[in-house]
Amino acid sequence: MIKRVNRVVLIGTGFVGSSYAFALLNQGITEELVLIDLNQNKAEGDAMDLNHGLPFAPSKTKIWFGSYADCKDADVVVLTAGANQKPGETRLDLVEKNTKIFKGIVEDIMSCGFDGIFIVATNPVDILSYVVWKFSGLPKERVIGSGTILDTARFRFLLGDYFDVDPRNVHAYIIGEHGDTELPVWSHADIAGTSISEWTKNKQGFDQDDLNHLFLNVRDAAYQIIERKGATYYGIAMGLVRLTKAILGNENSVLTVSAYLDGEYGQSDIYIGVPAVVNRNGIRQVVELELSNEEKEKFVHSANVLKKTLQPVLNNY
Ligand code: NAD
Repeated sequence: MIKRVNRVVLIGTGFVGSSYAFALLNQGITEELVLIDLNQNKAEGDAMDLNHGLPFAPSKTKIWFGSYADCKDADVVVLTAGANQKPGETRLDLVEKNTKIFKGIVEDIMSCGFDGIFIVATNPVDILSYVVWKFSGLPKERVIGSGTILDTARFRFLLGDYFDVDPRNVHAYIIGEHGDTELPVWSHADIAGTSISEWTKNKQGFDQDDLNHLFLNVRDAAYQIIERKGATYYGIAMGLVRLTKAILGNENSVLTVSAYLDGEYGQSDIYIGVPAVVNRNGIRQVVELELSNEEKEKFVHSANVLKKTLQPVLNNY
């Protein structure tokens, strides 16, 4: 009898996709990894290159350059294909190009009989997660956008750096659009169970402006990195691996992902970044934080911007 193993199919082996594949292999998360890209040479070359690292990997991963037919037995399909931001472009500027690309890709995947979980990373990720959910016909729990997983990681890193504490002990979330209208949930940010405002009391020379700037550096990180090296990929790649691990390991981990809201946070029929419990079935539940009035207002604004961007997409497809 053939033993069933975990299979991840990655569509799009550009900067983000290939970094994800590299990180996935290094952490030994899946037994099978299939690489697909419009640029077949790139995907095939990546499969060869990654295979040559196998003797140094923590566990065996079977990696090959594949086709959509490989999606049939996939547990997770990760979408990192499409255009990325050019200097000066916002994520929302990419909506038309990438929706068109996604229509073709999702139809190809579904026509092969895929019945697993989609992880979407391509921008604008909240809009494209919705589009994948619509085009695929899968239950909402099984289409997960990377949402603000990276923004939350950036926030935790910068807070840890500021207070000189390991970022893994920082519990703080960025929610809303993965983009210019995202917001920090200061009302629930803590380090080791102690609120950030407590930490500021012991911080020599503390200035409230430091925290305001810290958030601006989270929100604008992608622009800052793209200006310097043209694209961002290592951080998101590790975030996507974390999400894949939570799914395949049935972890029930809380991650800030783009999830479909059906009344939570007072919003409906939208994909947006919120903390959610993730396991083998996808999103088990959205975690509803009790937001301050100011945070509520900002979240509503963020949701409205996404809905306004989504409307023409829904009218056209
Ligand atoms: P890239 O240009 O390096 O890679 C994109 C890849 O998609 C290319 O290899 C291209 O050949 C492939 N592709 C295009 N159309 C395709 C199709 N129809 N079928 C299969 N493959 C196709 O771009 P990148 O820097 O890797 O970024 C990819 C996406 O990820 C962008 O939309 C970017 O904005 C997004 N991104 C998201 C986050 C996040 O936090 N969610 C972070 C960084 C980047």
